[in-house]
Amino acid sequence: MELLIRCGYLITMKDRRYFKDYAVIVEGDEIADILPYEEARSKYARYEVLDASDCIVMPGLINLHTHAAMSLLRGYADDLPLHEWLTKWIWPLEAKMRAEDIYYGALLAAVESVLGGTTVLNTMYHYTDPDYNEASAISKVGIRCVIGHVCFSWRKDEDLKALDDLVKRWHGAVNGLVRISIDPHAPYTVDPEYLKTLRQLTDEYNSKYGDKGKITMHIHLAETRDEAERVEREFKVNVEKGLAVYLDQIGVLRDDVVAAHCVWMTDEDIEVMARRRASVAHNPVSNLKLASGIAPVSKMLMKGVNVGLGTDSACSNNTLDMFETMKLASLLQKGMNLEPTLVPAFKAIEMATINGAKALKWEDEIGTIEIGKKADLIAVTFRRPHMTPIYDPFSHIVYAARSLDVKHVVVNGRIVVRDHELLTVDVDEVIRKASKVRDELLSRLKEA
Ligand SMILES: [Zn+2]
Repeated sequence: MELLIRCGYLITMKDRRYFKDYAVIVEGDEIADILPYEEARSKYARYEVLDASDCIVMPGLINLHTHAAMSLLRGYADDLPLHEWLTKWIWPLEAKMRAEDIYYGALLAAVESVLGGTTVLNTMYHYTDPDYNEASAISKVGIRCVIGHVCFSWRKDEDLKALDDLVKRWHGAVNGLVRISIDPHAPYTVDPEYLKTLRQLTDEYNSKYGDKGKITMHIHLAETRDEAERVEREFKVNVEKGLAVYLDQIGVLRDDVVAAHCVWMTDEDIEVMARRRASVAHNPVSNLKLASGIAPVSKMLMKGVNVGLGTDSACSNNTLDMFETMKLASLLQKGMNLEPTLVPAFKAIEMATINGAKALKWEDEIGTIEIGKKADLIAVTFRRPHMTPIYDPFSHIVYAARSLDVKHVVVNGRIVVRDHELLTVDVDEVIRKASKVRDELLSRLKEA
C-alpha cells in the first residue's frame, strides 16, 4: 500500500518537537517519508490520501500488561481484595473456560483496544488450543500482540508442552504481528527452581527463534503488600531485600523481563531493575481498583528504570483504555508526591509508546514514527469541544483526549480503523458472540 497520511499535528515521539500540517508517507508496511504536507502533495501525488488534517497523529499505543481473554469476565467480580478476587471468583470461573471463550474474550479485547488507539497488546493468558487462542484472535483484528502462556508450579509438564507449541506455531507469525513471551505467573505461584527453568527456556528459545524477534519474559511482581511474606512462607526463601532482588539472586532478572505492577519496591529493588535494564509495566487503574497501592513510578523513572503502561485485564479495570491510563499515571504521581511537575504529558506518552516498545525489545520497528520503522500510527481527532483550542498537542493527548476520539488506526502499513470504523472484523458480531459464550460459560459454572 502507498499511503499519504495528512496530519493536522504530528508527534513522532522521537523528540519533544511537534509538526503542524505535515504528512507521513507509508510504502508497504514501512514509513517511507515524513515531510510538510504541501511538499508531499506534489511529491507523492498518486498516493492514496488518509485525511487526518483534523487530528493529532502519533505512534500507536502499547498496552504493556493485560490478559486479553479476561475481557469476557468484565464486571464479573468487583470491589474485592486481590487474593479473594482471584481465588474465590476469577480462578473458579476460568477453570470452566474453553478455547472458544479464550478466543472470543481476546477478540473482544482486541476490538476494544484498536478502536481506542492501542496497536500492541502484551498479554498473559492460558494457551490451550493451536487455533482458538489469543494470538489467532488478536491478529485477526490486525493489531500486534505478544502472547504468553501463564506458568504455575502445579502444572509444569502441561505448561512446557503448551510453551513449545506456542513458540513453534506463533512466534513471528501473521507477517510478524505475533510474538511470544515466557510468562511465570508471579514469585508466589512459581517456585524458584521453576523460575530458573523458565529463564533457561527463554534463553534457549531466543537462540533458536530469536531471528523472528526477541522472546521476552512477562511476570507479575510486587503487586500487593503481603507478596514478599507469601513467597517466604511458600518457598522458604529469603526475600528481605525485595522481590526484584530475589529474582536477580536466582538469575532470572535480565533486560528482557517485563515486570507488571512493581508497587511494593524496596530501594534495592529499584536499583537492581535499573542495573539489569529490566522493565516495569505500570497499571494505575487496576492497582487502585484492587487497592494494591500506588507504584513509585517517578522514583523508578528518576533512577533510570524503563517504565511502560498497561491496563491489566478488563476484569480489574474494567476497560482497556490507554488514554485513561496515561492520564491517571501522570496525575497519581503529581498528587501522591505533591509535585505537579512529575510525569509531564510528554513522559506519559513516552511510557505508552516507546518505553513499551523498549520493554518488548521491539523498539527497532515500533514505538516512534520514524523513516524505516513499521507504520503503526493513530490519528486522534481534535474536532471536539473538549479538544478545543490547542496550545500543545502533547498536553491534549494526555489530559483532554478520550479513547473514542481515535479516528484512524494504521498497523504494519494497513488501515485497520478508518473514520472510527473497524475494517477487519464485524464489531456487532463480536459483541453478539462474546455475550453468547459468556452465557454458556456461566451456565457451565452453575452445573458444577
Ligand atoms: Zn495482571
